[in-house]
Amino acid sequence: MTTTTDATANALAALRAKLTGPDPRDGITAVALLRRTRQVATWSTKRDAETTLRDLRLRGLNVDKDIRIQRAVYTQPFQPWVVTRLGEFGETLLMAKDGSWVAGQLLPQREGERGGVWLPYESAERGETIPATFTHLTRTAPYYARAERYRTKSNGSCGRYVRDDDSVALCTCGWTELAYTRPEAQAAARAHRMAVAA
Ligand SMILES: [Zn+2]
Repeated sequence: MTTTTDATANALAALRAKLTGPDPRDGITAVALLRRTRQVATWSTKRDAETTLRDLRLRGLNVDKDIRIQRAVYTQPFQPWVVTRLGEFGETLLMAKDGSWVAGQLLPQREGERGGVWLPYESAERGETIPATFTHLTRTAPYYARAERYRTKSNGSCGRYVRDDDSVALCTCGWTELAYTRPEAQAAARAHRMAVAA
């Protein structure tokens, strides 16, 4: 499904490509971490990096499509993995463990080199990071009332009794809404996404 958010993101990506030229991550075999900063995270296996990214995404963080898990090199023979994203001005961001980003420049890989050299910006060397991106990701589920049969509305108005086929819509931002049916919950989730996108 293509959402408005996707269309906007695609348009932005196209515009950025025009302004900044090719993605510096293309055509390199690894990110060479010659000057490491404290925040840049490395993972010893690709699977570990994927797990970290998946856990962040369950919370709506760093859902962006252009995020890549790439090989890194620094001291021999250790070849860990890093998570990368392209910044707005062509900079290459490397992910920290908490999902925030460390800004730097990725140089083209020259012949004979084991990777493209990544140089942290001065701000990054001072310890500054860019916050993780956040996306409202909604889902719906059956609402299992269990012992709690009476549910108070979050807006403070009077609540109502919960029926067996009730559904709940949830978002990664913490928003929830109780509905009588699954389609109603899905509609509420759509309405929430549109409200936050507006
Ligand atoms: Zn939300």
